[in-house]
Amino acid sequence: MAYDYDLISIGGGSGGIALSNRAASYGARCLIIEQDTRMGGTCVNRGCVPKKAMWYAADMAHALRDAPAYGFDVNQSTFDWATFISKREKYISNINNYYVSAFEKNGVDTAYGHARLVDEHTVSVNGKNYTAERIALAPGGVPTVPDIAGKELGITSDGFFELQQLPKKVLVLGAGYIAVELAGMLQALGAEVTLAVRKDKFMREFEPMLADNLAQAMQSDGVTLATQFTAAKIERINESLNVESESGETLSGFDQVIFAIGRTPSTSDLGLDAAGVNVDQRGYIPVDKFQQTNVPSIFAVGDVTGQAELTPVAIAAGRRMADRIYNAQTDRHLNYDNIATVVFSHPPIGTIGLTEAQATEQYGDDVKAYETSFNPMYMAFTDHKVRTSMKLIVVGKEERVVGCHMIGLAVDEMLQGFAVAIRMGATKQDFDDTVAIHPTSSEELVTMR
Ligand SMILES: Cc1cc2nc3c(=O)[nH]c(=O)nc-3n(C[C@H](O)[C@H](O)[C@H](O)COP(=O)(O)OP(=O)(O)OC[C@H]3O[C@@H](n4cnc5c(N)ncnc54)[C@H](O)[C@@H]3O)c2cc1C
Repeated sequence: MAYDYDLISIGGGSGGIALSNRAASYGARCLIIEQDTRMGGTCVNRGCVPKKAMWYAADMAHALRDAPAYGFDVNQSTFDWATFISKREKYISNINNYYVSAFEKNGVDTAYGHARLVDEHTVSVNGKNYTAERIALAPGGVPTVPDIAGKELGITSDGFFELQQLPKKVLVLGAGYIAVELAGMLQALGAEVTLAVRKDKFMREFEPMLADNLAQAMQSDGVTLATQFTAAKIERINESLNVESESGETLSGFDQVIFAIGRTPSTSDLGLDAAGVNVDQRGYIPVDKFQQTNVPSIFAVGDVTGQAELTPVAIAAGRRMADRIYNAQTDRHLNYDNIATVVFSHPPIGTIGLTEAQATEQYGDDVKAYETSFNPMYMAFTDHKVRTSMKLIVVGKEERVVGCHMIGLAVDEMLQGFAVAIRMGATKQDFDDTVAIHPTSSEELVTMR
């Protein structure tokens, strides 16, 4: 049968874009469908990119705070939110335009509108059907909003990026990396922030020392941490938002409440039933190692598969899929082990591989941890001190490094190179045999005892 396209991708985010461009570079006839007016998806429009821009601004606020300790006479005046946001949006719009021109250059067709599967080879958008030999689902997800009274009074990370002015007093609800990132940025830029978590600490799936050190650093920056707080109701009383917990405790006086409690895959209105595509209980689309769903002509990449929900993961999965199908790289697929990631908190966190608890579960007593904690040289001069802590997890007699976890100044830029070494199977001896770069914080990773 003759199809309109070789490949149709639903979703113009990190995964769909990478897949379509790579497939087209091998000569595949591709169509990409995006429901937003802007290409780029979550990362570019409502995620990594605006977030990192705000993180730089927050970092600058920290530098201004520290500058007098280095002898500068700095009068830190107010932060002009509107000027910064308009620059940020200009930057994003340049990226949106870049994607559109790259599609033109690469010969990828585009359509805008909400797409649904009609059957295993057909997609409908704006009342028009398109057929393809293969279809890739890359619709990502949306922030989860809890089903509580007054939920419409809160905003999510999407709403955070639309704020036209800096809120004065903010409650962030959530315990994941997005919650701590938003809380840290808002506090640094001048808001008074409370971060409320349901249990006793945030980021519980990370190596525990990371969350412990971050909690300490955030509190010393002025963030209030509320634990054992599960929001049950939000009310507006006069100008103030008050939030009551399930146990009857009230946090009050906020002008913004931000839900950062997780993300929900965008699969409820994709026509999955019409094509017979399975979803799991949480709405994610299960795939095999080649990103194939239970339907042979339908694939899924990115956040919608529920595996390591990160931009480079979506990109890598999409590109490898194209390499395999359209460039005869028969076994090419993404290995989801050892994916490095950074939390853009203050200070940042960098982590890859297994936590000590995971390693022990997998390897039993054969696990050893090396740890260090120190005051980085930058802090020797400042009044406000934030320690750096690092932990290496090794297994076996050869002490292969299976986990590396760090929190502190500049670890965000430190991790990528170590990730290469760890992926290649580096041992502690390899780390020790690597001559240090001095004076840096990263040298501590190759001099641990
Ligand atoms: C606040 C925040 C910060 C983040 N920070 C980072 C970070 O620092 N580093 C990092 O690696 N990752 C980060 N992420 C995660 C990252 O954004 C995602 O992992 C990545 O965007 C996933 O790409 P994707 O292609 O799967 O989906 P998305 O980028 O979400 O793209 C999906 C696209 O599909 C479209 N779509 C959905 N349904 C349909 C439909 N039926 N028809 C047509 N179009 C449809 C959507 O409009 C969207 O544009 C962050 C996420 C958030 C929310």
